Amino acid sequence: MRIAIVDLNNFSRYPTLSVGQIAAILRQAGHEVTVISPFAVGVGSYRRVTRPHALGYYDSVLRHATAVSGVQAVRALRRKLAAARSPARARAQAATLAEVQGVLDRGTDLLLISAYSMYREVCGAIAAEAARRGVPVVVGGPMFGMPEIAAHWLDLPGMSGVFAGEAEGHLLDLVDSVMGGGHAVPGLATPDRPDLVPAAPFADFDALPFPDYADFPWDRYPNRIVPMMTGRGCGWGVCTFCSDVRTSAGRTFRSRSFAHVRDEMVWQSRRHRTGIFTFLDLKLNSDLTVWHGLIDEAQSVVPGCEWTASVHVQTNGETGLGPEALKAARRAGLSRITTGLESAAQGVLNAMGRGTTAEALSRFVRHASEAGISVRMTSILGYPGETAEDVRLTARFLADHRPYIDRVVVNRLAIVGDTPLGQAIRRNPDRYPQIGALAPNLETGLMDHENATFRSPGHLSAVLQMLHEVHRINRKPLKGASLTFEGVM
Ligand code: SF4
Repeated sequence: MRIAIVDLNNFSRYPTLSVGQIAAILRQAGHEVTVISPFAVGVGSYRRVTRPHALGYYDSVLRHATAVSGVQAVRALRRKLAAARSPARARAQAATLAEVQGVLDRGTDLLLISAYSMYREVCGAIAAEAARRGVPVVVGGPMFGMPEIAAHWLDLPGMSGVFAGEAEGHLLDLVDSVMGGGHAVPGLATPDRPDLVPAAPFADFDALPFPDYADFPWDRYPNRIVPMMTGRGCGWGVCTFCSDVRTSAGRTFRSRSFAHVRDEMVWQSRRHRTGIFTFLDLKLNSDLTVWHGLIDEAQSVVPGCEWTASVHVQTNGETGLGPEALKAARRAGLSRITTGLESAAQGVLNAMGRGTTAEALSRFVRHASEAGISVRMTSILGYPGETAEDVRLTARFLADHRPYIDRVVVNRLAIVGDTPLGQAIRRNPDRYPQIGALAPNLETGLMDHENATFRSPGHLSAVLQMLHEVHRINRKPLKGASLTFEGVM
């Protein structure tokens, strides 16, 4: 079978792991695979935080003020401007569409598309083009675990199927079904079988071929970074706002064996002549055997390697993040580490189910920085119940820890309907008086809402203080190996 995979979720720093994995499985089964990467044909992708310009603080204030404005017209204008600049709009994807047309002209039996919800418009254009030539199209992505979104996409003319869940265990069956069998496949909704039951979480990772990244535009990436994943889901999995543990890649925690991870590092590094890895695990210290395996063996496996990872600093149980372990991790090549601060106010951390304290986070960032690891943190503004004083505490935490933190990402609360927070608000709206006008948005996959927390002048002034501290941290130039990972996570 000639199968083309369209990687709409492509990123400008490294290949897309899920697409590499699908390509490897299909090739191992004897299919002829083509990967279409919009980035390879000059289409931009979403950007991650990098060093802001000197006036970036005013930019962040403007963004915040317009995002939370009580004036609907201001927010509508902001959304319009963002949409006009979005790489997801069909006009920005003209080169991708031309690539797809070329592949269809040369002869393709099946199109598989990997997409986030904002790519619906361009997916519709691809599906219509494929339908004109009688080529089936199946789309998959993390948001399709939500049945209403899957149904919305299945409505696109020419769409043959929407897949939800982890595809590895069902991919070959899916190809057989779409190409003629028509039988039911777990996770696959089709116009004839629209009811979607997400596929069960996949676990047999060690039986999979390593992801195949041969089709990606290596010459366009600033560094030759190989994405790796040692496990799916998160060993913590409690945070109330977290959509990652609800969508396809996150349900329950499952890990690869360290031997399989190690073999892949060797294989990918030889194949792509690189020793740079980004571990995409939600929490790399979920399986401590793998975490310590990396610390103990990464340098003997790929001498000189550098890598980056996300961890969670929980206060109960062993985290593998003590000062000695962090020093050893740095020696093993860990250059940059990301963790969630989210808030420095204990009441907010508890409400979020973070399982940590500001003191534990304080120790962690000091120890990591003293070990020579560049620290990146994420934060959330506007969690229900957050007060101006809570935001000031976070601002103070950032000011006190400026020497130890290199980058901070500020997010305003996003509510995904399927998360514990989204469910709780829908069940008991009276307990969340700050959150109003909650409504699902099928285009974004989020719940649109009004958040009264942002409307208090005290909160706004605390946010300005925090944004100022964030700007001072983010203006720090990165040093050494951590520069390799600027904008990567
Ligand atoms: S630690 Fe991170 S990945 Fe795990 S549940 Fe919390 S936010 Fe989600």
